[in-house]
Amino acid sequence: MKITNLHAVQRERPLVRPMRNAQGATDRRLFTFVIVETDQGVTGIGDAFGDPLLMPEIIARRLAPAAIGMDPLDLDGLWRQLCASSAFWETAGSVMCGVSAIEVACWDIRGKCEGRPVCEFLGGRKRDRVEAYASDLHWEEPQQMAELASGYVQRGFRYVKTHIGAVGEEENDLRRCEAVRDAIGPAVGFLIDINTAFDFETALARGRELEAFNPFWYEEPLSPLDYHGHAQLRQDLSMPIVTGENLYLREGFMPLWQAASCDYVMPDILRCGGLRQTQHICQDALGHNVIPSPHNFSSGVGLAATLHLMAALEGTQLLEFDPTGTAIYEEMFIEPLGVRDGMVEVPTEPGLGICFDV
Ligand SMILES: [Mg+2]
Repeated sequence: MKITNLHAVQRERPLVRPMRNAQGATDRRLFTFVIVETDQGVTGIGDAFGDPLLMPEIIARRLAPAAIGMDPLDLDGLWRQLCASSAFWETAGSVMCGVSAIEVACWDIRGKCEGRPVCEFLGGRKRDRVEAYASDLHWEEPQQMAELASGYVQRGFRYVKTHIGAVGEEENDLRRCEAVRDAIGPAVGFLIDINTAFDFETALARGRELEAFNPFWYEEPLSPLDYHGHAQLRQDLSMPIVTGENLYLREGFMPLWQAASCDYVMPDILRCGGLRQTQHICQDALGHNVIPSPHNFSSGVGLAATLHLMAALEGTQLLEFDPTGTAIYEEMFIEPLGVRDGMVEVPTEPGLGICFDV
């Protein structure tokens, strides 16, 4: 089998409410899908979760010429071909996001060719549904955040995640967390994400204040490369520390294990190199007593790929799920996307179980 064509297609979705985190805000989402065609008429779908301004050029000029003519089932050969150029290896950043998208699309192709869902190639379907958290509370007025959070709890989610930590919002952030915790009650897991905004002293001081709200975890308080700072926060704070969504390749996560940086780790299939790299990273994590909870904040491609991975690897916990309706989920799933009581069903159709009709 050969790849005959490979191209990027972008789709934009306006947001009802702006998404604000510690690093900035956006009022729209731009998705870059990668469509991989073969000489046997089977098409695979990926999602290039890198810089959307760069991804179409990276796909068209850097990755498509390297991939066309390759066998989509030869992942080792394809990997070398995509990462290496005549001068350099690309091991991170938006190029690696493009490589990840193509890798995921090739698993989709393999599954469609063999008539089997992707989880069966990753170790087998160990569960039919995965517990998810509602990942949508971006900072705004405390009352609005509280209403959104209690709405997710009423929909059955037992975990919700908020993004705070913007400069100058210290006092308001405490009011936001208080409002959300009051709204969801003591039994719901409350995840707090700082999106890498703090230095160590700030992360420690703010972390001590946030402990009053009994967070389920404290996510990326520091730079993704500050392995020892995260490790020190684990010593100094009583809540679990989480990082990893900004790291690449199995080797890129090794400093986390060496420094004992985190309690949970969040590799993103669409950034870190694809399904096989993420599978290795999750297995390495489990070997170091770190719980893998894959990062997932893209389209139905990332959701389906993450579901297949988590179905095959029982040690993974907590699927990141975007409940806003702007993530292009439902339109892509061949079977209706099943979400009930905070649990999301793993697709059973061949490949990823998705189609590109958006
Ligand atoms: Mg995050």
